[in-house]
Amino acid sequence: MKRQTLGRYVCAVKALVPPATRLLLLRAAGVVDLDLWEHVMQVPVLRCGLETHDGPHWTLLYEAADSTCCWLRWEDGSPTGRVAALPECPASLDASTPCELFRMHPGGHTWEVTDPDDELWNAVMPVFCEMYGAGHRGPVKRAEDVDADLD
Ligand SMILES: [Zn+2]
Ligand SMILES: [Zn+2]
Repeated sequence: MKRQTLGRYVCAVKALVPPATRLLLLRAAGVVDLDLWEHVMQVPVLRCGLETHDGPHWTLLYEAADSTCCWLRWEDGSPTGRVAALPECPASLDASTPCELFRMHPGGHTWEVTDPDDELWNAVMPVFCEMYGAGHRGPVKRAEDVDADLD
């Protein structure tokens, strides 16, 4: 469980840049990868990873085999953006918790901010568990198990 600072949130604005555009932007940035389309399609929804802020949003778009990270920068509501290869943020909370953003990023490091979706999930999970009889601490059931229970 990551340590997080209360009251500080991830921006989490979603990018409206479609997969085909992301592919073209990566190609234009010089990324050569035969499986690029698969990589792009693995992440259907891109969200800004910075702490809540004004101005352009940033998300990790692609990490090459040599761990070069290509970041997508976009403006609110724009269907396109720009891709830049940026070095990693050198900060880390401890040996197993590096910051997942880029060097010189604005706002807090990843362990200093809360993902609003995690908070929402933690709020609704007990309700789901109750509905499916798993108890608050029980593992979340897979869809097949739930279907079997309903038979
Ligand atoms: Zn943002
Ligand atoms: Zn950082």
